[in-house]
Amino acid sequence: MLTTGFTGSPLDRADQLRNDSAALEALRSGSEARFAAFVDLRPLVDELGEPRWLTNSEVPAELYAIFLGLHDGNAYFAVSVPPDEHAMELRTAAARMSPGNLAILAQARSLLSWHANHQHCAKCGAHTQPAKGGYQRICESEACRAEHFPRTDPVVIMLVTDGDRCLLGRQPKFPPGYYSTLAGFVEAGESIEEAVAREVFEEAGVSVSRVSYIASQPWPFPSSLMIGCFAEAATTEIQIDATELEDAKWFTKGEARAALAGAGPFKCSPRFAISYTLLKTWAEL
Ligand SMILES: [Zn+2]
Repeated sequence: MLTTGFTGSPLDRADQLRNDSAALEALRSGSEARFAAFVDLRPLVDELGEPRWLTNSEVPAELYAIFLGLHDGNAYFAVSVPPDEHAMELRTAAARMSPGNLAILAQARSLLSWHANHQHCAKCGAHTQPAKGGYQRICESEACRAEHFPRTDPVVIMLVTDGDRCLLGRQPKFPPGYYSTLAGFVEAGESIEEAVAREVFEEAGVSVSRVSYIASQPWPFPSSLMIGCFAEAATTEIQIDATELEDAKWFTKGEARAALAGAGPFKCSPRFAISYTLLKTWAEL
């Protein structure tokens, strides 16, 4: 199994505790509680680049804490806190942080983002209240009582290959020199294979034949599941959609290997991104 960034959490999510509010409250107020704290979805990070875990005495009792899971005698929670100089963008922190801690923060960030954006019921507009340790929100309206659950949005991300060449593109927002695998959201009524074929054709004008699944990764910006695939090109002429991409090119395996070593004709994605995993996996075949 390929490991990707934001995976490998050591936590036991302890789903059975989510319905036991008394047990959760005891864990939250205990000395073994560890809080992943975020300022506007940016985690607090210590001088080593690891999460700056807060303890119960540092987290006001009135703050709602999302239960993340158990590990090694500690109960882990996520909270939003007021501005703090130790907050750092998770993408920036991801370059240094150990994989297990990074995975915990990914879980925390996606859930905090969901709660921040689902304060009102999507059915009736009334306020919602968190429940089940933070894995649900319930509408306050007696007439509605709709239950809402954290969402995960599937995204296909694919390395299109033509023999010894692979197709990479760059969006206008990318830093200079960066090229990455193509990607896009899976739409309603679509399989993974169909989404891959549609996105590649829309963005680069290339038709693909065989699609194979390689690996996946949670992507907490805010709550995607990246589904990494290889796709074989059936046509090779590139015609980019200028609203999505600024450029797309075929690169040889030699060029990809050089880029992965930091000495290529292009810059590749950071190691924690599945785009890197896909490119590296193919380059080493
Ligand atoms: Zn409602």
